[in-house]
Amino acid sequence: MCLFCRIAHREAKARIVYEDPDVVAFHDIHPQAPTHVLVIPRKHVASIDAAQDDDEAVLGKLLLRAGSIARELGLQRGGYRIVINTGEDGGQSVDHLHAHLLGGRRMRWPPG
Ligand code: AMP
Ligand code: ZN
Repeated sequence: MCLFCRIAHREAKARIVYEDPDVVAFHDIHPQAPTHVLVIPRKHVASIDAAQDDDEAVLGKLLLRAGSIARELGLQRGGYRIVINTGEDGGQSVDHLHAHLLGGRRMRWPPG
């Protein structure tokens, strides 16, 4: 099982902030903003590139839950950013699809 599958199964430690039958969210171990939460599907999908048409509901829930978690954390007041790194040039280091939810500071554009 990959690291994020183990976190979803509570076999690896993480500071979980939200979970339901489809999605788990936990604090990033190396936060890049005052709030930095990773939102993952329980289903092991390696990346956006690996997602299939029948993952439509998985992807939809991932983004909807990222939005509701952002609201629960009060991030919608100042705004926030959702990032999905994909592949080597995209900066993906863990091969289990995850959305970074970043907030609590002004984001810059373009990203590095
Ligand atoms: P990415 O580089 O987009 O694949 O994002 C992977 C993220 O996972 C990075 O921001 C890491 O800091 C984070 N990370 C790696 N291991 C853990 C862990 N055990 N618990 C929480 N976050 C982690
Ligand atoms: Zn996995």
